[in-house]
Amino acid sequence: EDKDWSFMVRVRAPAGRLTAAQWLALDNLADTHADGTLRLTTRQGVQFHGILRQDLKGSIAAINNTLLTTLAACGDVVRNVITTAAPRADAIHARLEAEAFRLSAELLPRSRAHHQIFLDEEAVGAPEKEPLYGPTYLPRKFKIALAHPDDNTPDVLANDLGFVALTEGETLKGWIVTVGGGMGMTHNKPATYPRLADAICVIGPDDVLEMAKAVVRLSRDHGDRSDRKHARLKYVVAERGVAWVRERLAADLGRVLEPAPPLPRFTMPELLGWHEQGDGKLWLGLPVASGRVAGTLRLALRQVMERFAPRPIVTAQQNLLLADIAAEDRAEVEALLRAQGVTFAEDLTPLARWSLACVALPTCGQSLAEGERVHAPIVADVDAALARHGLSGERISLRLTGCPNGCARPYAGDIGVVGRAPGLYTIFVGGDFEGTRLSYLLADKVKQAQIAGHLEPLFASWAVNRLDGEGFGDFCARIGQTAARALLASEAAA
Ligand code: SF4
Repeated sequence: EDKDWSFMVRVRAPAGRLTAAQWLALDNLADTHADGTLRLTTRQGVQFHGILRQDLKGSIAAINNTLLTTLAACGDVVRNVITTAAPRADAIHARLEAEAFRLSAELLPRSRAHHQIFLDEEAVGAPEKEPLYGPTYLPRKFKIALAHPDDNTPDVLANDLGFVALTEGETLKGWIVTVGGGMGMTHNKPATYPRLADAICVIGPDDVLEMAKAVVRLSRDHGDRSDRKHARLKYVVAERGVAWVRERLAADLGRVLEPAPPLPRFTMPELLGWHEQGDGKLWLGLPVASGRVAGTLRLALRQVMERFAPRPIVTAQQNLLLADIAAEDRAEVEALLRAQGVTFAEDLTPLARWSLACVALPTCGQSLAEGERVHAPIVADVDAALARHGLSGERISLRLTGCPNGCARPYAGDIGVVGRAPGLYTIFVGGDFEGTRLSYLLADKVKQAQIAGHLEPLFASWAVNRLDGEGFGDFCARIGQTAARALLASEAAA
Protein backbone atom coordinates (compact mmCIF):
# COMPACT_ATOMS: atom_id res chain seq x y z
CA GLU A 1 0.00 0.00 0.00
CA ASP A 2 1.24 3.49 -0.80
CA LYS A 3 1.35 5.30 2.52
CA ASP A 4 0.85 9.04 3.02
CA TRP A 5 4.34 9.70 4.34
CA SER A 6 4.97 13.14 5.73
CA PHE A 7 8.42 14.58 6.35
CA MET A 8 10.26 17.07 8.46
CA VAL A 9 12.71 19.25 6.58
CA ARG A 10 15.38 21.15 8.46
CA VAL A 11 17.09 24.25 7.11
CA ARG A 12 20.69 24.93 7.97
CA ALA A 13 21.32 28.47 9.22
CA PRO A 14 24.87 28.85 10.59
CA ALA A 15 24.83 30.82 13.86
CA GLY A 16 21.07 31.21 13.33
CA ARG A 17 21.65 34.07 10.90
CA LEU A 18 19.07 34.73 8.20
CA THR A 19 18.01 37.73 6.13
CA ALA A 20 14.57 39.30 6.04
CA ALA A 21 14.21 38.10 2.44
CA GLN A 22 15.07 34.53 3.44
CA TRP A 23 12.62 34.72 6.32
CA LEU A 24 9.86 35.84 3.98
CA ALA A 25 10.69 33.04 1.54
CA LEU A 26 10.62 30.46 4.37
CA ASP A 27 7.38 31.96 5.63
CA ASN A 28 5.90 31.47 2.18
CA LEU A 29 7.07 27.87 2.07
CA ALA A 30 5.32 27.18 5.36
CA ASP A 31 2.04 27.71 3.54
CA THR A 32 2.83 26.30 0.14
CA HIS A 33 4.73 23.18 1.21
CA ALA A 34 4.25 22.54 4.95
CA ASP A 35 1.73 22.85 7.77
CA GLY A 36 1.66 26.64 8.07
CA THR A 37 4.26 26.64 10.84
CA LEU A 38 7.93 27.55 11.07
CA ARG A 39 9.81 25.86 13.89
CA LEU A 40 12.91 27.49 15.37
CA THR A 41 15.21 24.78 16.70
CA THR A 42 17.54 24.60 19.69
CA ARG A 43 20.41 24.51 17.19
CA GLN A 44 19.44 27.83 15.63
CA GLY A 45 17.92 26.20 12.56
CA VAL A 46 14.43 26.29 11.08
CA GLN A 47 12.26 23.22 10.53
CA PHE A 48 9.16 22.56 8.51
CA HIS A 49 6.77 19.83 9.46
CA GLY A 50 4.03 18.07 7.56
CA ILE A 51 5.72 18.05 4.17
CA LEU A 52 4.10 15.34 2.07
CA ARG A 53 6.23 12.93 0.13
CA GLN A 54 5.15 14.25 -3.23
CA ASP A 55 6.16 17.77 -2.08
CA LEU A 56 9.55 16.83 -0.67
CA LYS A 57 11.64 17.54 -3.74
CA GLY A 58 9.82 20.77 -4.48
CA SER A 59 10.29 21.92 -0.88
CA ILE A 60 14.00 21.31 -0.92
CA ALA A 61 14.39 23.03 -4.27
CA ALA A 62 12.39 25.98 -2.95
CA ILE A 63 14.60 26.25 0.14
CA ASN A 64 17.66 26.12 -2.08
CA ASN A 65 16.25 29.05 -4.01
CA THR A 66 16.30 31.10 -0.80
CA LEU A 67 20.09 30.56 -0.75
CA LEU A 68 19.69 28.35 2.32
CA THR A 69 20.13 24.63 2.33
CA THR A 70 18.91 21.48 4.02
CA LEU A 71 22.26 19.81 3.24
CA ALA A 72 23.91 18.43 6.40
CA ALA A 73 21.17 19.74 8.70
CA CYS A 74 20.61 16.04 9.49
CA GLY A 75 22.77 12.92 9.11
CA ASP A 76 26.11 11.61 10.35
CA VAL A 77 28.04 14.76 9.52
CA VAL A 78 28.78 18.11 11.13
CA ARG A 79 25.40 19.69 11.93
CA ASN A 80 24.40 23.35 12.03
CA VAL A 81 27.25 25.21 13.75
CA ILE A 82 25.95 27.38 16.56
CA THR A 83 27.13 30.36 18.58
CA THR A 84 25.67 33.25 20.50
CA ALA A 85 22.85 34.94 18.66
CA ALA A 86 23.64 38.37 20.13
CA PRO A 87 24.39 40.77 17.26
CA ARG A 88 26.72 42.91 19.33
CA ALA A 89 28.86 45.13 17.14
CA ASP A 90 32.26 44.26 18.60
CA ALA A 91 35.28 42.38 17.32
CA ILE A 92 34.71 39.27 19.45
CA HIS A 93 31.09 38.77 18.39
CA ALA A 94 32.00 39.40 14.77
CA ARG A 95 34.69 36.74 15.08
CA LEU A 96 32.36 34.17 16.67
CA GLU A 97 29.90 34.65 13.82
CA ALA A 98 32.60 34.51 11.15
CA GLU A 99 34.12 31.31 12.59
CA ALA A 100 30.68 29.67 12.72
CA PHE A 101 30.15 30.47 9.03
CA ARG A 102 33.61 29.29 8.09
CA LEU A 103 33.27 25.99 9.94
CA SER A 104 29.83 25.49 8.48
CA ALA A 105 31.06 26.00 4.91
CA GLU A 106 34.36 24.14 5.24
CA LEU A 107 32.94 21.08 6.98
CA LEU A 108 30.08 20.45 4.56
CA PRO A 109 30.22 17.11 2.80
CA ARG A 110 31.61 17.50 -0.73
CA SER A 111 29.33 14.90 -2.27
CA ARG A 112 26.96 16.24 -4.93
CA ALA A 113 24.48 13.42 -4.20
CA HIS A 114 22.14 15.79 -2.33
CA HIS A 115 22.07 18.13 -5.33
CA GLN A 116 21.61 15.26 -7.77
CA ILE A 117 18.76 13.69 -5.81
CA PHE A 118 16.87 16.80 -4.79
CA LEU A 119 17.94 19.51 -7.19
CA ASP A 120 18.17 17.58 -10.46
CA GLU A 121 21.85 18.30 -10.89
CA GLU A 122 23.46 16.10 -13.53
CA ALA A 123 26.20 13.74 -12.34
CA VAL A 124 29.45 14.61 -14.15
CA GLY A 125 32.47 12.29 -14.05
CA ALA A 126 33.43 10.11 -11.10
CA PRO A 127 31.88 10.86 -7.69
CA GLU A 128 33.93 13.38 -5.70
CA LYS A 129 36.06 12.11 -2.86
CA GLU A 130 35.17 13.19 0.68
CA PRO A 131 38.53 14.51 1.92
CA LEU A 132 37.36 14.87 5.51
CA TYR A 133 34.56 12.37 5.98
CA GLY A 134 35.97 9.55 3.86
CA PRO A 135 33.72 6.97 2.17
CA THR A 136 31.75 6.06 5.31
CA TYR A 137 31.18 9.53 6.82
CA LEU A 138 31.07 9.81 10.64
CA PRO A 139 29.80 7.14 13.02
CA ARG A 140 27.16 9.59 14.25
CA LYS A 141 26.04 13.21 14.08
CA PHE A 142 28.61 15.79 15.16
CA LYS A 143 27.73 19.05 16.87
CA ILE A 144 29.90 22.16 17.13
CA ALA A 145 29.38 25.36 19.12
CA LEU A 146 31.42 28.49 19.75
CA ALA A 147 30.92 30.61 22.84
CA HIS A 148 32.25 33.47 24.87
CA PRO A 149 32.47 33.23 28.67
CA ASP A 150 30.05 36.17 28.89
CA ASP A 151 27.52 34.33 26.75
CA ASN A 152 27.05 30.58 26.98
CA THR A 153 23.56 30.65 25.45
CA PRO A 154 24.74 28.04 22.90
CA ASP A 155 25.48 25.60 25.78
CA VAL A 156 28.93 24.98 24.38
CA LEU A 157 29.70 22.02 26.67
CA ALA A 158 26.71 20.05 25.40
CA ASN A 159 28.41 19.72 22.00
CA ASP A 160 30.84 17.17 20.56
CA LEU A 161 33.24 20.04 19.95
CA GLY A 162 33.31 23.52 21.42
CA PHE A 163 35.48 26.59 21.16
CA VAL A 164 35.47 29.03 24.07
CA ALA A 165 36.95 32.42 23.22
CA LEU A 166 39.75 33.66 25.48
CA THR A 167 39.76 37.42 25.31
CA GLU A 168 41.36 40.49 26.77
CA GLY A 169 39.01 43.37 26.14
CA GLU A 170 38.28 43.27 22.42
CA THR A 171 41.36 41.20 21.61
CA LEU A 172 41.01 37.48 20.93
CA LYS A 173 43.91 35.68 22.62
CA GLY A 174 42.96 32.12 21.64
CA TRP A 175 40.40 29.42 22.22
CA ILE A 176 39.86 26.65 24.76
CA VAL A 177 38.91 23.52 22.84
CA THR A 178 36.26 21.36 24.53
CA VAL A 179 35.50 17.85 23.31
CA GLY A 180 33.04 15.11 24.21
CA GLY A 181 29.70 16.66 25.11
CA GLY A 182 26.34 15.25 24.11
CA MET A 183 22.90 15.00 25.65
CA GLY A 184 21.36 11.82 24.26
CA MET A 185 20.77 8.74 26.39
CA THR A 186 18.35 5.82 26.46
CA HIS A 187 16.17 5.02 29.49
CA ASN A 188 17.32 1.85 31.29
CA LYS A 189 20.58 1.66 29.33
CA PRO A 190 23.29 2.78 31.78
CA ALA A 191 25.90 2.45 29.05
CA THR A 192 24.31 5.54 27.46
CA TYR A 193 24.49 8.84 29.30
CA PRO A 194 24.49 12.59 28.84
CA ARG A 195 27.88 14.18 29.15
CA LEU A 196 29.43 17.63 29.21
CA ALA A 197 32.59 18.21 27.21
CA ASP A 198 36.06 18.33 28.75
CA ALA A 199 38.53 21.14 28.13
CA ILE A 200 41.29 19.49 26.08
CA CYS A 201 43.75 22.16 25.04
CA VAL A 202 44.22 25.78 24.16
CA ILE A 203 44.88 26.97 20.62
CA GLY A 204 45.74 30.22 18.89
CA PRO A 205 43.17 32.66 17.52
CA ASP A 206 43.49 31.37 13.95
CA ASP A 207 43.55 27.63 14.62
CA VAL A 208 39.82 26.89 14.84
CA LEU A 209 39.29 25.25 11.44
CA GLU A 210 42.44 23.14 11.63
CA MET A 211 41.45 21.87 15.08
CA ALA A 212 37.84 21.23 14.04
CA LYS A 213 39.01 19.02 11.19
CA ALA A 214 41.32 17.10 13.53
CA VAL A 215 38.48 16.46 16.00
CA VAL A 216 36.16 15.37 13.19
CA ARG A 217 38.86 12.91 12.06
CA LEU A 218 39.15 11.67 15.65
CA SER A 219 35.45 10.96 15.72
CA ARG A 220 35.58 9.39 12.25
CA ASP A 221 38.42 7.02 13.14
CA HIS A 222 37.67 6.18 16.78
CA GLY A 223 33.90 6.43 17.17
CA ASP A 224 32.13 3.09 17.65
CA ARG A 225 30.63 2.08 14.31
CA SER A 226 29.18 -1.17 15.67
CA ASP A 227 26.57 0.44 17.94
CA ARG A 228 24.80 3.69 17.08
CA LYS A 229 23.90 4.21 20.73
CA HIS A 230 27.60 4.19 21.59
CA ALA A 231 28.89 6.04 18.56
CA ARG A 232 29.11 9.66 19.71
CA LEU A 233 32.53 11.11 20.38
CA LYS A 234 31.63 11.59 24.07
CA TYR A 235 32.05 7.86 24.69
CA VAL A 236 35.53 7.93 23.18
CA VAL A 237 36.50 10.82 25.47
CA ALA A 238 34.92 9.19 28.53
CA GLU A 239 36.65 5.87 27.89
CA ARG A 240 40.07 7.06 26.70
CA GLY A 241 40.49 10.22 28.77
CA VAL A 242 41.50 13.81 28.14
CA ALA A 243 45.25 13.15 27.88
CA TRP A 244 44.71 10.47 25.22
CA VAL A 245 42.48 12.81 23.21
CA ARG A 246 45.06 15.60 23.42
CA GLU A 247 47.84 13.25 22.34
CA ARG A 248 45.81 11.95 19.38
CA LEU A 249 45.03 15.47 18.24
CA ALA A 250 48.65 16.53 18.67
CA ALA A 251 49.81 13.53 16.60
CA ASP A 252 47.24 14.32 13.91
CA LEU A 253 48.29 17.97 13.71
CA GLY A 254 51.99 17.23 14.13
CA ARG A 255 52.55 19.71 16.95
CA VAL A 256 52.45 19.99 20.72
CA LEU A 257 49.13 21.09 22.21
CA GLU A 258 49.01 23.12 25.40
CA PRO A 259 46.70 21.71 28.09
CA ALA A 260 43.68 23.94 28.68
CA PRO A 261 43.51 26.32 31.63
CA PRO A 262 40.45 25.88 33.87
CA LEU A 263 37.30 26.89 32.04
CA PRO A 264 36.26 30.47 32.80
CA ARG A 265 33.00 31.17 34.60
CA PHE A 266 30.18 31.33 32.09
CA THR A 267 27.26 33.70 32.24
CA MET A 268 23.90 33.69 30.48
CA PRO A 269 23.01 37.16 29.29
CA GLU A 270 19.46 38.31 28.62
CA LEU A 271 19.04 38.38 24.83
CA LEU A 272 15.31 39.13 24.80
CA GLY A 273 13.80 42.61 24.87
CA TRP A 274 15.36 45.73 23.35
CA HIS A 275 19.15 46.07 23.27
CA GLU A 276 21.65 48.46 21.74
CA GLN A 277 23.99 46.66 19.35
CA GLY A 278 26.81 49.16 19.77
CA ASP A 279 26.61 50.50 16.21
CA GLY A 280 23.67 52.84 16.71
CA LYS A 281 21.14 50.13 15.79
CA LEU A 282 18.91 48.07 18.08
CA TRP A 283 17.88 44.46 18.36
CA LEU A 284 14.63 43.14 19.75
CA GLY A 285 14.54 39.63 21.18
CA LEU A 286 11.14 37.93 21.14
CA PRO A 287 10.30 34.77 23.07
CA VAL A 288 8.91 31.99 20.86
CA ALA A 289 7.35 29.21 22.92
CA SER A 290 8.78 25.85 21.77
CA GLY A 291 10.14 27.73 18.76
CA ARG A 292 6.76 27.55 17.05
CA VAL A 293 6.11 30.49 14.74
CA ALA A 294 2.47 30.28 13.76
CA GLY A 295 -0.77 32.24 13.72
CA THR A 296 -0.60 35.91 14.65
CA LEU A 297 3.09 35.74 15.60
CA ARG A 298 3.90 34.55 12.11
CA LEU A 299 1.72 37.21 10.57
CA ALA A 300 3.20 39.98 12.72
CA LEU A 301 6.75 38.89 11.92
CA ARG A 302 5.91 38.83 8.25
CA GLN A 303 4.67 42.44 8.46
CA VAL A 304 7.78 43.54 10.36
CA MET A 305 10.08 41.83 7.83
CA GLU A 306 8.24 43.42 4.90
CA ARG A 307 8.21 46.89 6.38
CA PHE A 308 11.49 47.20 8.31
CA ALA A 309 13.65 44.36 6.93
CA PRO A 310 15.39 43.58 10.23
CA ARG A 311 17.97 40.78 10.30
CA PRO A 312 16.38 37.70 11.91
CA ILE A 313 18.60 35.57 14.15
CA VAL A 314 17.45 32.30 15.72
CA THR A 315 18.78 31.75 19.24
CA ALA A 316 19.78 28.41 20.77
CA GLN A 317 16.78 28.89 23.11
CA GLN A 318 14.40 28.72 20.11
CA ASN A 319 13.72 32.45 20.34
CA LEU A 320 14.04 35.08 17.63
CA LEU A 321 16.11 38.26 17.58
CA LEU A 322 15.29 41.02 15.13
CA ALA A 323 18.57 42.84 14.57
CA ASP A 324 19.65 46.04 12.80
CA ILE A 325 16.53 48.01 13.71
CA ALA A 326 16.97 51.80 13.41
CA ALA A 327 16.36 53.62 16.69
CA GLU A 328 13.66 55.74 15.06
CA ASP A 329 11.71 52.59 14.05
CA ARG A 330 11.61 51.13 17.55
CA ALA A 331 8.20 52.47 18.56
CA GLU A 332 6.56 51.46 15.29
CA VAL A 333 8.01 47.93 15.34
CA GLU A 334 6.84 47.45 18.89
CA ALA A 335 3.39 48.88 18.14
CA LEU A 336 2.96 46.60 15.14
CA LEU A 337 3.90 43.50 17.16
CA ARG A 338 1.76 44.54 20.14
CA ALA A 339 -1.21 45.17 17.86
CA GLN A 340 -1.06 41.50 16.82
CA GLY A 341 -0.88 40.40 20.45
CA VAL A 342 2.71 39.16 20.21
CA THR A 343 4.18 38.14 23.58
CA PHE A 344 7.19 40.11 24.79
CA ALA A 345 9.72 38.77 27.28
CA GLU A 346 8.45 41.09 30.01
CA ASP A 347 4.98 39.49 29.69
CA LEU A 348 6.41 36.15 30.85
CA THR A 349 7.51 34.82 34.22
CA PRO A 350 11.27 34.15 34.43
CA LEU A 351 10.54 30.41 34.41
CA ALA A 352 8.46 30.61 31.24
CA ARG A 353 11.01 32.89 29.67
CA TRP A 354 13.89 30.49 30.35
CA SER A 355 12.01 27.27 29.56
CA LEU A 356 12.61 25.15 26.49
CA ALA A 357 10.41 22.39 25.09
CA CYS A 358 11.00 20.15 22.11
CA VAL A 359 8.27 19.39 19.61
CA ALA A 360 7.69 15.73 20.65
CA LEU A 361 4.19 14.34 19.93
CA PRO A 362 2.62 14.17 17.46
CA THR A 363 5.39 15.31 15.13
CA CYS A 364 8.60 13.68 16.31
CA GLY A 365 8.83 9.97 15.66
CA GLN A 366 11.15 9.44 18.65
CA SER A 367 8.87 10.93 21.30
CA LEU A 368 7.68 8.80 24.21
CA ALA A 369 5.55 11.52 25.82
CA GLU A 370 4.16 14.98 25.11
CA GLY A 371 6.56 17.94 24.90
CA GLU A 372 5.38 21.19 23.37
CA ARG A 373 1.69 20.52 24.05
CA VAL A 374 2.23 20.18 27.82
CA HIS A 375 4.87 22.91 28.04
CA ALA A 376 2.53 25.71 29.17
CA PRO A 377 0.63 23.64 31.78
CA ILE A 378 3.85 22.29 33.31
CA VAL A 379 5.38 25.77 33.49
CA ALA A 380 2.15 27.10 35.05
CA ASP A 381 2.17 24.34 37.69
CA VAL A 382 5.84 24.90 38.54
CA ASP A 383 5.32 28.69 38.63
CA ALA A 384 2.45 28.21 41.10
CA ALA A 385 4.69 26.03 43.29
CA LEU A 386 7.43 28.68 43.20
CA ALA A 387 4.92 31.39 44.11
CA ARG A 388 3.83 29.46 47.20
CA HIS A 389 7.40 29.86 48.51
CA GLY A 390 7.92 33.49 47.51
CA LEU A 391 10.19 32.51 44.62
CA SER A 392 8.26 33.94 41.66
CA GLY A 393 10.92 36.33 40.41
CA GLU A 394 13.75 33.77 40.41
CA ARG A 395 15.63 33.01 37.20
CA ILE A 396 15.33 29.23 36.77
CA SER A 397 15.66 27.20 33.58
CA LEU A 398 13.30 24.32 32.83
CA ARG A 399 13.86 22.10 29.83
CA LEU A 400 11.24 19.64 28.66
CA THR A 401 11.70 16.90 26.09
CA GLY A 402 9.46 14.11 24.87
CA CYS A 403 12.26 11.52 24.97
CA PRO A 404 15.76 11.08 26.41
CA ASN A 405 17.49 12.11 23.17
CA GLY A 406 17.59 15.49 24.80
CA CYS A 407 17.15 17.93 21.90
CA ALA A 408 16.32 20.74 24.38
CA ARG A 409 19.40 19.87 26.48
CA PRO A 410 17.38 18.83 29.58
CA TYR A 411 20.34 17.48 31.56
CA ALA A 412 22.23 20.77 31.61
CA GLY A 413 19.77 23.30 33.07
CA ASP A 414 18.27 23.84 36.53
CA ILE A 415 15.35 21.45 35.93
CA GLY A 416 15.05 18.78 33.24
CA VAL A 417 11.79 16.98 32.50
CA VAL A 418 12.23 14.05 30.11
CA GLY A 419 9.46 11.95 28.53
CA ARG A 420 9.47 8.36 29.75
CA ALA A 421 6.19 6.88 28.49
CA PRO A 422 2.82 8.41 27.61
CA GLY A 423 1.98 10.79 30.48
CA LEU A 424 5.09 9.90 32.49
CA TYR A 425 8.31 11.86 32.95
CA THR A 426 11.73 11.61 34.59
CA ILE A 427 12.77 14.70 36.56
CA PHE A 428 16.39 15.87 36.70
CA VAL A 429 17.78 18.66 38.90
CA GLY A 430 21.18 19.93 40.01
CA GLY A 431 22.55 21.22 36.72
CA ASP A 432 23.17 24.93 36.54
CA PHE A 433 21.75 27.92 34.76
CA GLU A 434 25.05 28.50 32.93
CA GLY A 435 25.18 24.98 31.46
CA THR A 436 28.40 23.85 33.15
CA ARG A 437 27.13 20.99 35.32
CA LEU A 438 25.02 17.92 34.63
CA SER A 439 21.85 17.21 36.55
CA TYR A 440 21.08 14.10 38.54
CA LEU A 441 17.92 12.04 38.46
CA LEU A 442 15.46 13.18 41.11
CA ALA A 443 12.40 11.07 40.36
CA ASP A 444 11.31 8.63 37.67
CA LYS A 445 7.94 7.85 36.08
CA VAL A 446 6.26 10.94 37.45
CA LYS A 447 2.80 11.78 36.13
CA GLN A 448 2.61 15.13 34.36
CA ALA A 449 0.25 16.55 37.00
CA GLN A 450 2.70 15.63 39.76
CA ILE A 451 5.86 17.18 38.32
CA ALA A 452 5.49 20.46 40.22
CA GLY A 453 4.58 18.56 43.40
CA HIS A 454 7.87 16.66 43.14
CA LEU A 455 9.83 19.88 42.87
CA GLU A 456 8.00 21.77 45.59
CA PRO A 457 9.79 20.25 48.64
CA LEU A 458 13.05 21.35 47.04
CA PHE A 459 11.69 24.85 46.39
CA ALA A 460 10.59 25.04 50.04
CA SER A 461 14.04 24.06 51.28
CA TRP A 462 15.83 26.31 48.78
CA ALA A 463 13.73 29.32 49.91
CA VAL A 464 14.86 28.81 53.51
CA ASN A 465 18.34 27.31 53.22
CA ARG A 466 19.89 28.85 50.12
CA LEU A 467 23.23 30.56 50.30
CA ASP A 468 23.52 34.16 49.24
CA GLY A 469 22.60 34.35 45.54
CA GLU A 470 22.51 30.57 45.17
CA GLY A 471 20.59 29.37 42.10
CA PHE A 472 18.12 26.51 42.29
CA GLY A 473 20.33 24.09 40.41
CA ASP A 474 23.34 25.08 42.51
CA PHE A 475 21.33 24.44 45.68
CA CYS A 476 20.25 20.99 44.42
CA ALA A 477 23.86 20.17 43.52
CA ARG A 478 25.08 21.30 46.94
CA ILE A 479 22.63 19.14 48.91
CA GLY A 480 23.10 16.22 46.50
CA GLN A 481 20.88 13.50 45.12
CA THR A 482 20.40 11.55 48.36
CA ALA A 483 19.29 14.57 50.40
CA ALA A 484 17.07 15.81 47.57
CA ARG A 485 15.31 12.46 47.30
CA ALA A 486 15.00 12.29 51.10
CA LEU A 487 13.23 15.67 51.08
CA LEU A 488 10.81 14.29 48.55
CA ALA A 489 10.23 11.10 50.51
CA SER A 490 9.60 12.98 53.78
CA GLU A 491 7.09 15.21 52.02
CA ALA A 492 5.33 12.14 50.62
CA ALA A 493 5.22 10.54 54.08
CA ALA A 494 3.85 13.69 55.75
FE1 SF4 B 1 14.31 15.35 20.26
FE2 SF4 B 1 13.16 13.32 21.59
FE3 SF4 B 1 12.06 15.74 21.59
FE4 SF4 B 1 12.01 14.24 19.40
S1 SF4 B 1 10.98 13.80 21.35
S2 SF4 B 1 12.47 16.42 19.48
S3 SF4 B 1 14.03 13.26 19.52
S4 SF4 B 1 14.05 15.17 22.48
